[in-house]
Order: sequence, then structure tokens, then C-alpha cells
Amino acid sequence: MVQVNGNYLKLKAGYLFPEIGRRVKAFSTAHPDAPLIRLGIGDVTEPLPQACRDAMKIAIDAMGTAEGFHGYGPEQGYAWLREAIATHDFQSRGCAISADEIFVSDGSKCDSSNILDILGEGNRIAVTDPVYPVYVDSNVMAGRTGQAGDEGRYAGLSYLPISADNGFTAEIPSEPVDLIYLCFPNNPTGAVATKKQLTAWVDYARKNGALILFDAAYEAFIQDPELPHSIYEIDGARDCAIEFRSFSKNAGFTGTRCAFTVVPKGLKGKAANAEDVELWGLWNRRQSTKFNGVSYIIQRGAEAVYSAAGQQEVKGLVSFYMENASIIRKQLSSAGLTVYGGEHAPYVWIKTPDGMDSWGFFDHLLNNANVVGTPGSGFGAAGEGYFRLSAFNSRANVDDAMARIQAL
Ligand code: PLP
Repeated sequence: MVQVNGNYLKLKAGYLFPEIGRRVKAFSTAHPDAPLIRLGIGDVTEPLPQACRDAMKIAIDAMGTAEGFHGYGPEQGYAWLREAIATHDFQSRGCAISADEIFVSDGSKCDSSNILDILGEGNRIAVTDPVYPVYVDSNVMAGRTGQAGDEGRYAGLSYLPISADNGFTAEIPSEPVDLIYLCFPNNPTGAVATKKQLTAWVDYARKNGALILFDAAYEAFIQDPELPHSIYEIDGARDCAIEFRSFSKNAGFTGTRCAFTVVPKGLKGKAANAEDVELWGLWNRRQSTKFNGVSYIIQRGAEAVYSAAGQQEVKGLVSFYMENASIIRKQLSSAGLTVYGGEHAPYVWIKTPDGMDSWGFFDHLLNNANVVGTPGSGFGAAGEGYFRLSAFNSRANVDDAMARIQAL
């Protein structure tokens, strides 16, 4: 009989969002008229920018003509989109990233998982705790961990706890690691990293021959001009970091799907025979073999993000969500809760009150305010005692949810 990939069997049963779904369903079945407000999952709610829709409509019409038809495109993405990304997102911020180092894809979730294809099995891997669960689960699926222990932590991973004590930015590990996942602005805590903090990571990585996988899916939400948007704003990062970016959260592409990964040329890893190997070549080979590119229509839509009109609209979307985050922060603080994040990220990270655990607070808000959030413990053992609310929602829902929590 066919064998399954046994690594999948190591995955902890209740992945966070299915468990939330189960509890919400049970509640809704018991209380069919309860007016639920969902501030849980990090999906955007506002419509796609007009500039993107216009560009996509033009592309659709072009596809209906012999001259404008596009079949398979380059697996790495069209040159015009890669150029626009390199110019606007990197060169304009002083990062020496060129268009051919940008690999356009259908999501940074997929890329941050697929990257393991080109990395060896023996790497010692560090993740923060709490963490975006995809980094951990993709390592489990790829057989890079042992079994989960009692707290749900997998053997073989180095967990770097982040909490109020260290400003929600992980400390440099005391044990040597080869692969480090960093996400700033952070999901779930909403924390950001300063240039100084990222410099310490880059220095560590260069000194130890480690690779940083830097997830900047939320960079557009940074408000303070001093904060870095890209790891490549740090000297030396080209030699030790891969960066993941996405159009999902800034331009509302969660359902449209477009993202990109930056792999600098000259960034190297070691082969088993200790020879240096360029990661760019491996990722290029991986993408050319296993991926057939993002649709022409969608790439035209993504290109329009960089037009003057697109930039204006994206700015409007980001301000809208950040105003939501600010309302959440203010209202929860005045309700006596301790809150973090939400200043440069669309997530507010809340200390649960009265020693309640994360799921206890989830049930409390669900039952008494009909508000759905995300228990911090679902992001890792060190998230216990915290709770995440997302600013991705309509203003009316945010106002309503906050009024209900105030009234508790
Ligand atoms: N990275 C982080 C940290 C995220 O929170 C998310 C989505 O919630 C993603 C990546 C996924 O992005 P994409 O829609 O490009 O797959």
C-alpha cells in the first residue's frame, strides 16, 4: 500500500484556525441570532484599489486579442513587474537589489514554506515564540523537526521567546543556529525591529554563516520613518538574508494572490562537500521546475500598485487599517487592558486580564461580547496569556466590537 509522508503525522492536531472555527460554529449553533464580529484572521476587508482593477481589466481585454495574448510567462515574473519592485521597494530606500533578484510568486506563505526545498536537512533552525505558524509547520512537513512535546514545541527547533520583557523582539540565540526566521512588523505581536536590532541579527548571521529568512509582509504598515522596511537596509544583509514580501496586506491581494521573494546574487550556502553554492541559482532552478509563474493579468494588477494612483490608494488603505488599530488600542487601554503593537502593524497584542489563559479570554469575548479574536497560545507556548485582535475590518465593526468590550 502507498506510504504517506510520516512527517505530516507529527503535526499537532488542532491547527489554530480550525479550532477557532469549531468553537465559533458551536457558539453560533447555540445562539443563531448572536451578531458576531470577527477580528481574528488576518484577512483584509477593503476592496481592491481601482488602479489595480483597471490594469487587470486592460490585461483581460489584451488576452482576448492575438497580439495581446499571453501564455506561459517567465517563471520568475515579468521583467516590468520585477523592475517596478526593485526600483520602488528597494532602490528608493538605498537597497542595492536588482530586478533579477526578485522572484514574483503567488504568495509569501507558499514561498516561506517552499524555500526549504533548497536548504539542507541538517540546519539548526530558530523561530520566535510566538510565531506565524507556517514557519514551524512547513519545517515539520519537510522532516526538519522531531516530535512535538507537551507544550507543543517540536524537538530540533530552537525557540526564541518574545515577550514584553524583551520588547517582543527576540534576543540573539545563545546556541549556534543556521537558519533564522524573522518577521517584522510582526505577526502576531505587532512589534517592529529597529535598525540597531536588525544589525545585531545580520552581524550574528554573517559571523556564524547563518541565513535569515526575513518576512516583511507587513512593511507597508510602518509609520516611523526611522524604522527599516527591508532587511537589505542593513549593511551586509545581502550576504545572509532572503526576504519575503506580499501584495496581500498593502494592496488587498489576499484573494488575488501576488507576492515576491528576494534572493540576492552572491548569497551562499554550503554543499555537503563544503563547497560554496549560490542560493539564487538553486531558487531559480526550483521555481523554473516546480512553478509556472503568476497570471499575466494579476501581475499587471500588481504593477499598478506602483503607479501614482496605486500608491495613493495603498496609502489610503494602510491609513484606514492603522486608524482601526489605533481605535482598538485606545479603547482597550481605556477598558483597563494592557496592549502592545498596533502602531506599525495591523495587529494589536493584548495581555489577557486577571490571569485568564488565552483560550479562556477567547471564550469570554465570544460568549459575552460576541467578538472573535485569536488566542496567543495558538502562535506558540510563549503566546499563552496573550490575545491577538486584527485591525482588518470595517470601521463600523471595529467601533461596535470595542463598544461591546468596553461594556463588559
Ligand atoms: N507572512 C505573514 C507573517 C503573514 O501573516 C501572512 C498572512 O497572514 C503571510 C505571510 C501570507 O501572505 P500571502 O498572502 O502573500 O501568502
